[in-house]
Amino acid sequence: MEATESVMNATEQAWKKRPLIISGPCSAETEEQVMQTSQRLAATGKVDMFRAGIWKPRTRPGSFEGIGTKGLAWLQQAKKATGLPTAVEVATAKQVEDALHFDVDVLWLGARTTVNPFSVQELADALRGTTVPVMIKNPINPDLELWIGAVERVAKAGVKEIGLIHRGFSSYGNTEYRNAPMWHLAIEMKRRHPGLLMINDPSHICGRRDILQEVSQKAIDLDYDGLMIEAHIDPDNAWSDAKQQITPEQLGEMLNGIVWRREDIASEEFHQALDKLRNQINHLDDEMMQILSQRMKVAEKIAEYKKENNITILQTNRWNEILDRACKRAEKIGLSKEFITKYFDAVHMESISHQTKVFNS
Ligand code: PEP
Ligand code: MN
Repeated sequence: MEATESVMNATEQAWKKRPLIISGPCSAETEEQVMQTSQRLAATGKVDMFRAGIWKPRTRPGSFEGIGTKGLAWLQQAKKATGLPTAVEVATAKQVEDALHFDVDVLWLGARTTVNPFSVQELADALRGTTVPVMIKNPINPDLELWIGAVERVAKAGVKEIGLIHRGFSSYGNTEYRNAPMWHLAIEMKRRHPGLLMINDPSHICGRRDILQEVSQKAIDLDYDGLMIEAHIDPDNAWSDAKQQITPEQLGEMLNGIVWRREDIASEEFHQALDKLRNQINHLDDEMMQILSQRMKVAEKIAEYKKENNITILQTNRWNEILDRACKRAEKIGLSKEFITKYFDAVHMESISHQTKVFNS
């Protein structure tokens, strides 16, 4: 009873710790690998929770699909040896039952599960009546509603402690990342669910070691609550996700290299300086909106002429000319071509909608 209570406390403590660092191998492979990885991770003094995949959803058949239930006993031993609470991915009701039977402390839904409301509902039903914290990875495809739906299903089953894991989104032709981060989607998710723990998973975003640190830093700069990073005692020979795993010691070094920023600090002087700059931003934003509104009024005037003369709203040549001119100017004044293109696209859409109103009046 005492042991259970102290582990319970360790889980609660870890859940509240900021930044919460979760690490462990992509997959549990052997007893020795699980024990050594967990002990070397614990020795860094920087890890709060031990993860390991027991059942692995693989894109193609024939890859290592996880060691299965026998790995759960190794996790139990790892917890005993290190005091670290354990976390495992579950994808079926039976896996929830098995994981809880072996005292896994935190469960997570993988990206391939979050996409499927049938699976999510099956898991939610299996979780009903338990007190285990549950983390929900973003779905593979960039669809916020699926992610929100999964949170709602799990919450409706009475799960009190829910966390989110941002592991990036699959996008065809993307080369830099294994899964494009699409930070704006995770930020929007955080905005809609401010109370939920938000963890970043740089390993599955990057798919490679060399950019893990920069993605981790970005997440910390964006005020994420923690990181989940895969670590392995022999990364190159890992049975899954070999390219993205690092040794426990490399993880320790990487975490040392991160600048841990806080959203808020107490210093009065800092707040005053920040308030002043924020005021400037507010003024500039107001001015920009004023100017945009004027721009739309000019567009409406143009629309009136076009209507009188029976000319189409969209004139591709003119639009290319505007974009061309803007991109050239943008470079000179330190704005990226990418941003300016997106910005002008949005302005153009709004302008067309104003002109359409004139045409229909
Ligand atoms: C994993 O965490 O090893 C995993 C399979 O992740 P994801 O569900 O994000 O692909
Ligand atoms: Mn993995």
